[in-house]
Amino acid sequence: MKIICVGRNYVKHIKELNNERPKDPVLFMKPDSAILPDKNPLYLPPIANEFHYEVELVVKINKIGKFINKEFAHRYYDQIGLGVDITARDLQNELKEKGLPWEKAKAFHNSAVVSKHFIDKNRFEDLNNINFSLKKNGKTVQAGNSSQMLWKIDELIEYISKFFMLKKGDLIFTGTPSGVGKMEVDDEFYGYIENIEMFHFKVK
Ligand code: ZN
Repeated sequence: MKIICVGRNYVKHIKELNNERPKDPVLFMKPDSAILPDKNPLYLPPIANEFHYEVELVVKINKIGKFINKEFAHRYYDQIGLGVDITARDLQNELKEKGLPWEKAKAFHNSAVVSKHFIDKNRFEDLNNINFSLKKNGKTVQAGNSSQMLWKIDELIEYISKFFMLKKGDLIFTGTPSGVGKMEVDDEFYGYIENIEMFHFKVK
């Protein structure tokens, strides 16, 4: 499986990083090897000085498809989870400045936290109104709602599947709301969709 991530999908987050609002979704990928195994601590690798958390809703693809029209996109997923797109921010800024690909800053070991459990999409009244949040050391640092996405889930699936064939088990990280920040050794994180705890992990 693969992980496809969407960058710059929430206006306030675009502003906090002084990025331009994109004309089309910004996409990048992480390999399956980037997933932090459940219950493992997150060891920050010695590749950068500043690591940021980005909490994101995650869509799990349930069948193969490409060139999927947004009207039919809902047939390609039935579960929503939560993840953290861990980013080596100083390294990413260096790569951005040079116009180089982001993989080294985005796809390293354990850079993808993914909830073990996913929620059946039919349990949500409206997929475009899902609250999610991240707590760091007991304090809420990010809180978002899927209504704030520039491109909604079905639009993302249409766009992504023009470039990349989606397969069963693939995960789409749908972008982070504002409030991203540093993670440091001993920090403890809890992620929530509505009031359901989706994951927790500790940084080492
Ligand atoms: Zn992200």
